[in-house]
Amino acid sequence: MIWNGARSRMIARRFCMKGLLTMARKIGFALVLAIAAAAGVFFFVVPSRVDRSLNKIVPHAPYEVSEEAQALHESLRLADLHDDALLWDRDFSKRQTRGHTDAPRLIEGGYRLQILAAVTKTPKNMNYDQNSGDTDNITLLTIAQRWPVKTWSSLAERALHIARRAHEAERRSSGAVAIIRSKEDLRERMEAEGLAVILATEGAHPLEGDLENIDRLYDAGYRVLGLQHFFDNELGGSLHGASHRGLTEFGRKAVAAAQEKGMIIDIAHSSEAVVRDVLAISSAPIIVSHTGLRGNCDSPRNLPDELMIETAAKGGLIGVGFWDGAVCDPSVPSIARAIAYAVDLVGADHVALGSDYDGATTVPFDASEAAALTQALLNEGLDAATIKAVMGETAIRFFEENLPEK
Ligand SMILES: [Zn+2]
Repeated sequence: MIWNGARSRMIARRFCMKGLLTMARKIGFALVLAIAAAAGVFFFVVPSRVDRSLNKIVPHAPYEVSEEAQALHESLRLADLHDDALLWDRDFSKRQTRGHTDAPRLIEGGYRLQILAAVTKTPKNMNYDQNSGDTDNITLLTIAQRWPVKTWSSLAERALHIARRAHEAERRSSGAVAIIRSKEDLRERMEAEGLAVILATEGAHPLEGDLENIDRLYDAGYRVLGLQHFFDNELGGSLHGASHRGLTEFGRKAVAAAQEKGMIIDIAHSSEAVVRDVLAISSAPIIVSHTGLRGNCDSPRNLPDELMIETAAKGGLIGVGFWDGAVCDPSVPSIARAIAYAVDLVGADHVALGSDYDGATTVPFDASEAAALTQALLNEGLDAATIKAVMGETAIRFFEENLPEK
């Protein structure tokens, strides 16, 4: 009995251990499954959800385009100075069901030249009035989008990675996309078919305070250097920063060094003081890649008209945006009115499109529907030659004249 009792206790204990082990194994398995599911959502669902929620199109019935507008549109070569498509987790070379642009939709819309910008850091609670550079939304996005670990902490690495993504899209496009590095590249592409792409920084914080990074960005293919984004950086004040200061000593050196290499300076998002400083020291024409005009739409996102006039007087180019911060209401007639206002102010030889497509904006049409804008410009009373200029010819000529020789 005693022996039997001990044995049965031992068996019971063994069963108990076995049960515990099985339960532990089950819990472990469930935990692994839960972590895998959470990781799957974080890495594969969140990026596309964020993209979809930030890059919207105003719901609309198909835009009516007259035969006259359609014929005119088909004769145009469109160009646009600002697009953030490379930030998002999608293949630029393939047609997408979200966002505003990709190569197929741009080509369908009649675009021949698109500047693609590298967004590398944006502050939390981003607004047009005042932001600090202490926080950053992009770090989490780089992790969620499975970018290389070195991009998690380095803004220079982020810009270099974005350039690599552009070159991958170029390779996958089977000749539809060409990344342009020189006047010669652009002339060649304009004689052939397909889309020319020029790479730009949105804010020069990827320099990380080191002038030698200009060479790294240039070698990676960047030809436009945007100086600021939503916060003050090592080069100077942002239009939406805390200091509103002008160019720093480093900023002056960076502008000079970039222009020395033939890079084009972009002062979209720069403080008024930075714009004045750049205009004073610049050795080449500059661009405002995506903006509105204060006299047409009194928004804190827009620069005063007098700075637009000065930019144009020095041979510069002004890209008119498609979103509410630039044109006050994101409708096609409102964009056309802003363009007509810019043409009146500085002349069609200094006005271009600067959509800010895929820049966390809501716009009235995607790239494939650009004929709606040609129609609206006709409705606004612009003649065919002016429409041709602002829709693309002015910008194409600007880059043919201002990119590096070879
Ligand atoms: Zn921007």
